Amino acid sequence: MAGLKLLVVSTPMGPLGQGLGGGVELTLEAVLRGLIQCGHQLSLVAAEGSALKLPELQQLWLEPGVPQPSWQHQPRQAPVQIPANGLLPRFWQRAQAVQHHFDAVLNLGYDWLPFWLTASFTTPLFHLVSMGSVSDAMDAVIEATAAAFPQRLAFHTATQAGDFSLPAAPILVANGFDFSRYNFCATPQRQLGWVGRIAPEKGLEDAAQAAAALGWPLRIWGLREDEDYAAAVERSVPAGTLDWRGFLPTDQLQAELGRCAALLNTPKWNEAFGNVVVEAMACGVPVVAYRRGGPAELIDEGTTGWLAAVDQPQALIELLPKAFSLDRSACRARAQQRFGLEAFASRLQGWLQQPG
Ligand code: UDP
Repeated sequence: MAGLKLLVVSTPMGPLGQGLGGGVELTLEAVLRGLIQCGHQLSLVAAEGSALKLPELQQLWLEPGVPQPSWQHQPRQAPVQIPANGLLPRFWQRAQAVQHHFDAVLNLGYDWLPFWLTASFTTPLFHLVSMGSVSDAMDAVIEATAAAFPQRLAFHTATQAGDFSLPAAPILVANGFDFSRYNFCATPQRQLGWVGRIAPEKGLEDAAQAAAALGWPLRIWGLREDEDYAAAVERSVPAGTLDWRGFLPTDQLQAELGRCAALLNTPKWNEAFGNVVVEAMACGVPVVAYRRGGPAELIDEGTTGWLAAVDQPQALIELLPKAFSLDRSACRARAQQRFGLEAFASRLQGWLQQPG
């Protein structure tokens, strides 16, 4: 199969490397790295100031501009907003101007404009949808794009795709991870882990409650998006339960995360995928998660973790000892088989190279 010339357009949430783009930042790296390893030629449009360990690209356009507000933290009925001097129109102006050099353009932003542009691009424009349903305006544009170009949209998980009315069975590509960046840790310490943006939809309070009941410390990694929420979670458990580690680059994050006996993953929303679930498994750390959203599709119960009844910290507490007794090397091996770069790139190729 001949190499594709592919232009990837990043998230306009801000420069890469600071956690502003959430899981999309890691997805972007995996898309680039995985497809380059398969012999394709990749170029990227991203925000100025991005600091990511990117693989060798054919071309890199770094655009200045004002970050796009996240759809996730707006009311469902909110209208489409684009700030003055926004990154989003800059990105798409660039993509439009250079599209004829490429076989395909791949959008990683969860934004109205790129979906709406699909019909007007002369080079096929594909979209990897990174969230479930959070906004009426986004639902409408995603569903209209799917109706007109059913092959151009892919989703991370079936649960996520299930949020939308689609004309045909969804194309599912899961996500990919470079396992060489995650070291296996065979000997955990007496500590639990939790990773994610510190925001209400991530449900940190339930993990905190489970850790407090067990009397184990909970190490927390992630961007403090909502300080009031973080303070409320801190107050909800005995002092010393929570250990805030901040937002760390992947290399440091994995080194610390690997020492946890288990990861708790407790989202309150329909998480599209849940990168952190796979990142923990890659270090050999079993995961106890609520049976909801993407994470419920990522865990192979009895091998990489266990699933608890939703919104019940007590169920988490009961499953933790079962997680501690799982074989950590089997946990990593299973995760690599499903979510390694090779598996991911092969799913992406299958999608991007089909006609239509
Ligand atoms: N992350 C990180 N350092 C940290 C905490 C989190 O790099 O200290 C990254 C993590 O690797 C993951 C992302 O933040 O890729 C969170 O993605 P996830 O899919 O779990 O949730 P999202 O933020 O997209 O809702």
